[in-house]
Amino acid sequence: MTPSRPWRVLRPMLAAALMLAGFALPAHAAVKILACEPEWAALTQELAGDLADVSSATTAMQDPHQVQAKPSLLARARNADMIVCTGAELEIGWLPVMLQQSGNPRIQPGQPGNFAAADFVRKLDVPKQVDRSQGDIHPQGNPHIQTDPRNIALVANALGARLAQVDPAHAAQYQQRTSAFAQKWQQNLQRWAAQAAPLKGVTVAAHHKAYTYMEDWLGLQEVAVLEPKPGVEPSAAHLQEVLEALKARPAKMVIYSAYQDPKPDEWLSANAHVPAVKLPFTVGGTDGAKDLAGLFDDTLARLLAAVKP
Ligand SMILES: [Zn+2]
Repeated sequence: MTPSRPWRVLRPMLAAALMLAGFALPAHAAVKILACEPEWAALTQELAGDLADVSSATTAMQDPHQVQAKPSLLARARNADMIVCTGAELEIGWLPVMLQQSGNPRIQPGQPGNFAAADFVRKLDVPKQVDRSQGDIHPQGNPHIQTDPRNIALVANALGARLAQVDPAHAAQYQQRTSAFAQKWQQNLQRWAAQAAPLKGVTVAAHHKAYTYMEDWLGLQEVAVLEPKPGVEPSAAHLQEVLEALKARPAKMVIYSAYQDPKPDEWLSANAHVPAVKLPFTVGGTDGAKDLAGLFDDTLARLLAAVKP
């Protein structure tokens, strides 16, 4: 049906009036984007603004290795124009099932609507030999790339370009927002580098091998990991071994993520007489980690507080 003549005349006038008033007529429906983890939802929102309707499959209080593909999540996958995930097999336990059950061709691997952040950074902890008996070994390397803000910059550039490809009608806006983000992020990186100077060379024990990239960024030295195998919680006997090992090579602190049970960290903290430091790990993990910049502001503040004399 073609619109009546008065409407054809009135619509542009109305649009102009609304734009002057700070509104825009929804010319296109927003692109529906499902992020696997909160950090990618936050980044997508920064790059897309009102152009996208973004939600996250997980919260900061969930273990991203293990997620239930509930019907509500499947419904979001079915309707999504694009998914933004970590990749590197972080989501191997649930994403393939979700993709298959969604029946949504737009978000399948190889499609523009399937974005894996880890494809765009240099991976650390890549095993020379893959042996599944080692537990959650991440054969493609460590997937927890979001703990280094330099990786966020690399992913942002790739994600901005991908958004422009998925929603070409708004390509110019994605480009603009992506370069504005890159500029702002570079300033943040300089500020964080200056703040983080006292952390260089500081030794840490980590609950899960979740902070390899952060340690690389800050020059922290990981001297122990609490989990006997990645993804396997430490037993009392294993914690005792870690405590003994720390006598030879002391750690200045024990770090763990907001979603984890802190009991092993608290035990080690009490027995090794060093602080246990909860880190947000992703956006929403702590009150201070309200957005992507807040994630790193708060992470640094917590690490710096732990090394204060
Ligand atoms: Zn992991």
